[in-house]
Amino acid sequence: MSARRIVVAIDGPAGAGKSTIARRIAARLGFLYIDTGAMYRAVALWARRLDVSLDDHLKLEQLARAAVIELRSNPLGVVLNGEEITELIRNPEISQEASKVSAIPGVRRALVDKQRAMGEVNSIVMEGRDIGTVVFPEAAIKIFLDAAASVRAQRRLDELRAKGQTGLTLEEVLKDINERDTRDRTRAEAPLMQAPDAEYVDSTHEPVEEVEERILMLVRARTSNGKELHK
Ligand code: C5P
Repeated sequence: MSARRIVVAIDGPAGAGKSTIARRIAARLGFLYIDTGAMYRAVALWARRLDVSLDDHLKLEQLARAAVIELRSNPLGVVLNGEEITELIRNPEISQEASKVSAIPGVRRALVDKQRAMGEVNSIVMEGRDIGTVVFPEAAIKIFLDAAASVRAQRRLDELRAKGQTGLTLEEVLKDINERDTRDRTRAEAPLMQAPDAEYVDSTHEPVEEVEERILMLVRARTSNGKELHK
């Protein structure tokens, strides 16, 4: 047994509860929480501001490489090139554009490099679509978090409404996440899928607290108090 950093990888479709669960688990374990979706969203926002076409793959890859993205944990926030963009990236337009830029192999390479660098020095809980399959295939704990599409859409709608975005219907949100999930699952590069050694967790009927406890039990079973990994 040796002390080393631990990676908890949480993947799954939009609205499955990854962010909520990952944040809570990171807080309980004292690990760094990393939201990789926020990084794709940051690149999408920058591209939109510079009016870069989503077909200009080379330019988008250059932006992804040049972007200085900080994921602040206290208070929780996303900073792009020194500017706070936490709220600016949480809307359906950026969600769709993030999903489009994330299908570009060069953009993925650039952001995966940054993600690996973040996980190199810290114990982390990292959430996204390809963490257990591509970014950290050696992660000690891999979770594939899922829920029924209608429940995921309702959760996303509640989140948007809590932020004052009241103009959307459940059907519109469902359409948005279905489109993104289909694009994420069918793209050639790092498609959304469950890693063979990931634990499948369905949160459709399970309260957040129970999902959290279930995952923490898994972490503890594979580590010693979440601190050391049995080799
Ligand atoms: O997780 P979130 O919904 O914020 O992610 C936005 C988009 O970024 C996703 O729809 C997906 O297309 C992309 N993404 C990805 N790989 C990741 C994280 C997010 O392709 N690891």
